[in-house]
Amino acid sequence: MSGSTEQTPPAAALPEGFIKALGELLPRQRIVTDQAECWTYGYDNSRRHQLPAVVAIPDTHEQVCSLLKLCHEHRVPVTARGSGTATTGAAVPVPGGLVISFARMDSCLLYTSPSPRDRTRTRMPSSA
Ligand SMILES: Cc1cc2nc3c(=O)[nH]c(=O)nc-3n(C[C@H](O)[C@H](O)[C@H](O)COP(=O)(O)OP(=O)(O)OC[C@H]3O[C@@H](n4cnc5c(N)ncnc54)[C@H](O)[C@@H]3O)c2cc1C
Repeated sequence: MSGSTEQTPPAAALPEGFIKALGELLPRQRIVTDQAECWTYGYDNSRRHQLPAVVAIPDTHEQVCSLLKLCHEHRVPVTARGSGTATTGAAVPVPGGLVISFARMDSCLLYTSPSPRDRTRTRMPSSA
């Protein structure tokens, strides 16, 4: 094999009924199955690249919980993705798996500043 790109499983390889069940959890526009679009969620800052079978882009904590439950039930491997900037390949999906992109979960939930030495910020996974 040249480089570190691996073979690409199609979304069709997902368990029967999985995409339909996913559609009951998320709006259609938050589910990516097109291979060209999925490809852009298959890399990080390492040299690895792997096409995910499907990408889910949740907005809420509840959606994330439901997604993980669904994937567990169907034995679909999950890879969490922030911005894909890490260098270890850990954000590169497992073959045949689902990527949860946290791109839309970018709000700052709480910011407190009780003192200059003890500042705390509670934020969603993708907020800077
Ligand atoms: C040029 C450069 C300079 C850098 N400098 C620094 C630096 O000075 N200091 C520093 O600390 N780091 C530095 N980094 C590392 C950078 O901060 C990390 O790449 C970053 O923390 C990864 O965040 P990400 O959202 O892109 O995660 P990703 O790359 O998308 O994912 C990283 C890992 O976290 C997991 N993950 C992502 N989101 C979640 C989630 N919501 N829940 C659970 N798991 C999740 C992924 O599955 C993966 O295993 C640098 C990186 C680059 C490329």
